[in-house]
Amino acid sequence: MQSIYDLSYEQLQDVLAGMGEKAYRAKQIYSWLYKKRITSFQEMSDVSKGLISKLEENYSLDTLKEVQKQVAKDGTVKFLFELNDGMTIETVLMHFHFGKSICVTSQVGCNMGCKFCASGLLKKQRDLTAGEIVGQVLYVQKELDAQDERIGNIVVMGTGEPFDNYDRVMNFAKIVNSDFGLAIGARHITISTCGIVPKIQEFARGKYQYNLAISLHASDNKLRDELMPINHAYPIEVLMDALKEYSIDNHRRLTFEYILLHGVNDSEKQAVELAKLVKGMNAYINLIPYNQVDEHGFKSTDEKQALHFYDVLMKNGVKATLRSKHGDDIDAACGQLRAKHEGKL
Ligand code: SAH
Repeated sequence: MQSIYDLSYEQLQDVLAGMGEKAYRAKQIYSWLYKKRITSFQEMSDVSKGLISKLEENYSLDTLKEVQKQVAKDGTVKFLFELNDGMTIETVLMHFHFGKSICVTSQVGCNMGCKFCASGLLKKQRDLTAGEIVGQVLYVQKELDAQDERIGNIVVMGTGEPFDNYDRVMNFAKIVNSDFGLAIGARHITISTCGIVPKIQEFARGKYQYNLAISLHASDNKLRDELMPINHAYPIEVLMDALKEYSIDNHRRLTFEYILLHGVNDSEKQAVELAKLVKGMNAYINLIPYNQVDEHGFKSTDEKQALHFYDVLMKNGVKATLRSKHGDDIDAACGQLRAKHEGKL
């Protein structure tokens, strides 16, 4: 049975029209689902019994099952959820000075094969449905309800490649963005891709207001080929062309993510090359400390070198942020908790 959380507001309107119902019902139902956050259709007290039965017959009100939860010293929470078919996924809740941010998973496993990433240890088993991604946000929001707190930011940066599950991820974003539902502003939703160029172009054509982040991690093709197999299909110059077009046509700023890997991509020369590559673009670079995955042998750059790398970028006219580690004392790297759970780490 399809989950009702798979439906965008417009799709729900269509479904209701097909049931011979008035369009305003969609607003009521969305409000029950996402504002009052019900756990049973029966709770919808202003919806007729007849419509409740029809919804119950056709749609499930699926929620995720928590199987594990780790809380780090800095308050970062990592959830391991079980889906209906028994597969597991991870979701992370982070506390920033600007609010609560949630990192959601878009696929069970990942096929992109980035060499430093724990997610790739478990190949893609399937795409998540829009409802399963929505479910992660709703579950965490329900937990926050108890403290009267609200999720302010969503990053699609958990396990999986969102642009390898494009339609469902875009529907997910639409659902959580809807004013009739969770109403999370488009500019507070970030989608992160390893660089699937045709999908970046499709995203550009959609004129969305969501933020786009690109996992770059290297500024030359030789190294990027080694670290990220996707670079063979869409090398740096092709990727940069698509990004420039998107950024200029849509007047949007881009974020480049760059994990600092000790002795691999963190030299002064590489900082200068990186600055050259993005100079003149409406972009900034997010320098990310590496969360060590024992299997892979990469090490995180030390703080002194990271600061130097940051300084070189700034001196070369490129905006950058040096992100502090979140949830260092828990298995916070993408896919680490799950890989451990499945016995792969
Ligand atoms: N596939 C998408 C989104 C998931 S990965 C993408 O590639 O952007 C989200 C981010 O976490 C990426 O920048 C990825 O490179 C980074 N990442 C993966 N493993 C990491 C680790 N062990 N430590 C720090 N960042 C990691």
